[in-house]
Amino acid sequence: MRRRQFLQNIGATALGFSFLQSSKAGQLSANAAAIGRVVVVGGGMAGTTVAKFLRLWGGTGVDVTLVEPNSTYYSNIFSNMVLTGERTLSQLAFNYSTLNSKYGVKVQNHSVNSIDPVGKKVTLSNGGILPYDRLVLAPGIDFEPLPSLSGTTANQAKIVHAWKAGTQTTSLQNQIKAMTSKDTFILTIPPAPYRCPPGPYERACVVADYLKRTKGGGKVVILDANAGILAEPQNFTTAFNITHKGIITYVPNAPIASINADTMMVKTSGGVSYTGKVINAIPTHKAGNLITQSGIGLANGLNGKWAGVNVLSYESTNPDLAGIHVIGDSSSTTQPKAGHIANAEAKVCADAIIQIFKGGVINQSPITNSSCFTPITKTTASWLSVVYRYDPATGKMAPTGNGVTESNGATSENYEDMLKWFNNLMADTFS
Ligand SMILES: Cc1cc2nc3c(=O)[nH]c(=O)nc-3n(C[C@H](O)[C@H](O)[C@H](O)COP(=O)(O)OP(=O)(O)OC[C@H]3O[C@@H](n4cnc5c(N)ncnc54)[C@H](O)[C@@H]3O)c2cc1C
Repeated sequence: MRRRQFLQNIGATALGFSFLQSSKAGQLSANAAAIGRVVVVGGGMAGTTVAKFLRLWGGTGVDVTLVEPNSTYYSNIFSNMVLTGERTLSQLAFNYSTLNSKYGVKVQNHSVNSIDPVGKKVTLSNGGILPYDRLVLAPGIDFEPLPSLSGTTANQAKIVHAWKAGTQTTSLQNQIKAMTSKDTFILTIPPAPYRCPPGPYERACVVADYLKRTKGGGKVVILDANAGILAEPQNFTTAFNITHKGIITYVPNAPIASINADTMMVKTSGGVSYTGKVINAIPTHKAGNLITQSGIGLANGLNGKWAGVNVLSYESTNPDLAGIHVIGDSSSTTQPKAGHIANAEAKVCADAIIQIFKGGVINQSPITNSSCFTPITKTTASWLSVVYRYDPATGKMAPTGNGVTESNGATSENYEDMLKWFNNLMADTFS
């Protein structure tokens, strides 16, 4: 029953186009009615999707330039499995060649340094200037500094988050590989909102599984700044208390006060100290620096750290920033910060911009879906899924039905579904 619910949820994605279908969508059309220039900033899950679908749905009259400093994107999704050797980083590498060759998106491998919302142009790190009619920002997340991090520079460098896949993922993988059955892995979870609510619990599970399988034991201590498990509470409670019993210790309400990288000691704000061989500290999140440091009033959402948006179009709620849209993890909405929903938000945004260019009407009842699979062991996975619908009374996306559905435990069938889900999502985004 729950699996059927999951498949129904996936089929209910933005605008009724599930990504399973939309990846097979037709050829680029010449849609004479939609004409305009869009600059998209950030080639991650949100930015790449919006660039692709602006062209796919808008046709050749919509001129799209994607600005992204890196020529390769490493998926965060599945990056926990790199830590345990079940995936390599190169298996999680994606590029923008299809976006250009198949959809005609122009790609500039630079960063955007500044935005001129009045002159409607952005300045790139190479000094280039790109004018726009509509600007879509999708720069993901950045971090607050860790509180009271002390120790030598070399030791401090070992305290990584690995919450943006790349070199830190490899560093953490090597640290885990060097652990023995006597060692402890400490994982600190920041206060919400952070990207991928189940992600840290998933990491604890796959590391525990790895230690058990390859080292004959070890300990994983989760210090969670939040009051309890924020995603799949039933599945993770089972995973911590039964599947990985004796290895995982879960400590809620444990924000960190300090980390000493020389003694490898973490102190919580409650005054309790934990010592580990490896400290994987995930700092407090905020929107990508482009949002918080733009100086033009983009960070007008939650605590001034995120971009407030109108979820019918993802246009900024700052009235001075008409024509600037923010999607993905940087935006502040009722939806989670996750790749699957970033893909759905991007489609809502693309459709809205095309309607604006055509002088049409923006869809007033968008639907989005968030689905997340979680490996619990090397062969089993669980999942969560939720469908959101626009609520005109609040102007927010509200969960439908019973809200978040979680799978009935972790199974090998879910694990197989997880592999298919990942391939479909990434193909829908990058192919
Ligand atoms: C361990 C882990 C597991 C996860 N698992 C899942 C999962 O199972 N399911 C799921 O749905 N989500 C998952 N996520 C979350 C998912 O990866 C993110 O939510 C998603 O990547 C957000 O997409 P985004 O486009 O907002 O940001 P990103 O994908 O991070 O992309 C941001 C891009 O913007 C670029 N950029 C930043 N600043 C600039 C600038 N000034 N100029 C130009 N470009 C810029 C960056 O280089 C980057 O490529 C996971 C995350 C982690 C860390």
